[in-house]
Amino acid sequence: MPARTGREYLEGLQEQEREVWLGGERVKDVTTHPGLRRGAQAIAALYDLQHVPELREAMTYVSPTSGERVGLSFIVPRTRADLEARREMMLQWARATCGMMGRSPDFMNVTFAAWAGAADYFAQGRSQFGPNIRRYYEYIREKDLTLTHALINLQRSRTVSGVLNLEEGTALHVVRETDAGVVVRGARVLATLGPIADEIAVYSPRLAQLDQPHSPFALNFAIPCGTPGLRFLCRESFDLGRSRFDHPLGSRFEEMDCVAFFDDVLVPWERVFMLGDINLINGTAMATGSSMHSAHQGAAKNLAKCEFVLGVALLMTQTLGNAHLPHSEERLGELMMYTELMRACMRAAEADAEPDQWGTMRPAAMPVEITRNLFTTAYPRMAEILQLLGSSSFMITPTEADFGGPLAPAIEQYLATEGSTARDRVKLFRLAWDIAGSAFGSRQVLYERFFASDPLTRARFLSAIYPKAEMIKRVTEFLERSDETS
Ligand SMILES: Cc1cc2nc3c(=O)[nH]c(=O)nc-3n(C[C@H](O)[C@H](O)[C@H](O)COP(=O)(O)OP(=O)(O)OC[C@H]3O[C@@H](n4cnc5c(N)ncnc54)[C@H](O)[C@@H]3O)c2cc1C
Repeated sequence: MPARTGREYLEGLQEQEREVWLGGERVKDVTTHPGLRRGAQAIAALYDLQHVPELREAMTYVSPTSGERVGLSFIVPRTRADLEARREMMLQWARATCGMMGRSPDFMNVTFAAWAGAADYFAQGRSQFGPNIRRYYEYIREKDLTLTHALINLQRSRTVSGVLNLEEGTALHVVRETDAGVVVRGARVLATLGPIADEIAVYSPRLAQLDQPHSPFALNFAIPCGTPGLRFLCRESFDLGRSRFDHPLGSRFEEMDCVAFFDDVLVPWERVFMLGDINLINGTAMATGSSMHSAHQGAAKNLAKCEFVLGVALLMTQTLGNAHLPHSEERLGELMMYTELMRACMRAAEADAEPDQWGTMRPAAMPVEITRNLFTTAYPRMAEILQLLGSSSFMITPTEADFGGPLAPAIEQYLATEGSTARDRVKLFRLAWDIAGSAFGSRQVLYERFFASDPLTRARFLSAIYPKAEMIKRVTEFLERSDETS
């Protein structure tokens, strides 16, 4: 089956009954529910981009097995040119959502492509896990499926050491193995896109219980979202059912976050990719390169987001007539710096990419991983800069209905600026508020702080992979030279 259209994606969601709860009620149809439908339509629009004639080449490639054109984010990159082409495709999707849907399907597509390329790694657990991951990757590529993922176990309390405190009754674990598969029970967070995905992937970025080589909490599998016993509990929707004018981003890009409950869910053997082995699970992201590949997707999203926020800031200062003031220029300059740093890191990761042991072209680790760490502080600062630039204009934001009400003439007269009509000014600042202030905007800030793990873990990860020896050597050599001359 070739790359899907948006309509095929929406039909797929309707065909697969799933248990989704929102606001105390079970959702009957996620494609029509007022809190979810416009987010699903945004994903559908991404799939439709694959069929725009002038974009077809850029968005798809020829499947090595079926010969059909399939989504380019599924490619197992073999050359730097493959990475660049994939980045252009991912940027196209990210720009279509202004960078506001971090969990667009390419996020998981690049992860599974990296894993399929490194299938031998999975075979170290049990021999069938290697073919399992390869077959599953081909299945989602050929069907162009959308995946959510839930990596984090809930914990009832925390240890000072940072070692995860996993307990049965809370964390997801294997209850038993049967001829048909493994039965799992527990909860996982945070399944962004959960209600509007076809499948859920469950794995772990880390399970730091290194004193035990095997654990019932060590799992890597994927199942359909409609699997019996699997339930999604949504937070409240940030699509408030308002017009595009009133709520420009929340009315378009609600990707929804969920807790996923697994109530004795059977995972068929062919969908199990790792089981029990803590060292294998802990090593997956670096050994297979999936960390760098998913960071590559994140970098494209970050760049699109930087560009969009910068564009909004430029328009804000133009509208308010303060673009030339030094403090505005300083703040705009900071946004420009983040934008260009993001672009530079992304390009450096491609330019310095090297093939891994399986021949998959892997983005260079440092520049691509740094885009994640940088964004945990850069994005909250970007939202803050919008707030500083906008000040009270964020509150001078009547709704679309007010423009048709009795105060319309006063609004038109008093809210206009030299650079803008009242309507354009309010429209722009409602957009800026959806980035810097609304529930939708606040969730974006939270997302960028935490989506790639908590900042402490990220900092430790970066420190662990940084090639420190070279820096130390330079200083020790300098110190030795100083000794000679004294
Ligand atoms: C909007 C949003 C969307 C997300 N989407 C997804 C998704 O699609 N899939 C997915 O799997 N995950 C997703 N995540 C979850 C994300 O991976 C986690 O939020 C992240 O890994 C941090 O885990 P946590 O939230 O449990 O934070 P916690 O572990 O609760 O950490 C909270 C704070 O406490 C600190 N802390 C924690 N433990 C200790 C300790 N022992 N000692 C000292 N300090 C500690 C941390 O540094 C952090 O500052 C999402 C998160 C957000 C906010």
